[in-house]
Amino acid sequence: MSPTASAPPAADPLPIKPAISEINKPFWDGCRAHKLMAQQCTHCQELRYPAAAVCPNCLSGAHEWRALSGRGELFSYIVIHRGYHPYWAQRVPYNVAFIELEEGLRMFSNIVGTPNEALRVGQKVKVAFEQRGADLVVPVFEVVDKS
Ligand SMILES: [Zn+2]
Repeated sequence: MSPTASAPPAADPLPIKPAISEINKPFWDGCRAHKLMAQQCTHCQELRYPAAAVCPNCLSGAHEWRALSGRGELFSYIVIHRGYHPYWAQRVPYNVAFIELEEGLRMFSNIVGTPNEALRVGQKVKVAFEQRGADLVVPVFEVVDKS
């Protein structure tokens, strides 16, 4: 048994961390700098998220990283009422939102700063960044059009 296997649960549970690799590290570094980054294929110009080793459109590995606008709209969402993980159990009910960015990419995130009851498909949103744990910064979104 490893020493960590018998460690008592943390008083303040940590969120599940993403697997950070050489391929997606620029995305997470961008989050720490409060920039929403995506790969852009330098062969066919296709933007892609999540990060991948090759372009899903033309299979080229050539790419560069580009800062996105951070603007988009709420494409869809759900509200979670059961805490399946200790970190999230303290935060129910919370939303999981599917955001369509103005560049056309879609990403899962959370809407913050608006009650779940006031969320509406099509609302305009903008990115914000939230610290989760000591060394993780994630993109979240705020509603900019509350009508
Ligand atoms: Zn391509």
